[in-house]
Amino acid sequence: MSARTGILLLVSGPSGSGKTTLCRRLSGENEAHYSISCTTRAPRPGEVNGRDYHFLTPDEFSHRVAAGEFLEHATVHGNSYGTLQSEVLGYLSNGTDVVMDIDVQGAAQVRACEDPAIRAALVDIFVMPATEDELHARLSGRGTDSAEVIALRMRNALEEIAHQHEYTFHLHSGTHEEDYLRFKALLLAERLRAARHIHP
Ligand code: 5GP
Repeated sequence: MSARTGILLLVSGPSGSGKTTLCRRLSGENEAHYSISCTTRAPRPGEVNGRDYHFLTPDEFSHRVAAGEFLEHATVHGNSYGTLQSEVLGYLSNGTDVVMDIDVQGAAQVRACEDPAIRAALVDIFVMPATEDELHARLSGRGTDSAEVIALRMRNALEEIAHQHEYTFHLHSGTHEEDYLRFKALLLAERLRAARHIHP
């Protein structure tokens, strides 16, 4: 088999669309490295620093922005979120695929990135809940957020959905299993692109 460059699978979609589960499962099966984001939001029960996110104070976050460590960063639901260059670039150049779960603002920054390695690697996909009711049920069902937070996420979800046309691929959510099969199929197909293969 010939060597190839890594794919940067960029996944967006409203909270509750199931995108994080898709990304985590892909990396759990060793199909891709999950890019662990930095955030200033507080950890939810069960979340682990360095596994789910790098949890930073607002000051730490600003310092890392000033030091140029981020590939992209944005304010989402009132907190800062960002992708470290170190979570992406080295993996891609080693031929490891990277999956990143980021919002529509971050996605726009990655698309605008001039680094040829990022441009060649990027595959973007928007995960859509089947219906608005389904989205609300999923946001409520997590059971970890207050009604106020759920209402804010619902408003933000509708704003995110307004950006779906910016994405090359759309995954309209069905069952978890169907979603995952289609998601993985996209990655497997992208791996076959001739342009990604390095021939000796
Ligand atoms: P949550 O707080 O529910 O884990 O994530 C909230 C939102 O932040 C989600 O839409 C998620 O995709 C987005 N997000 C997570 N990490 C990043 C990141 O590194 N950059 C950007 N721009 N958005 C992120």
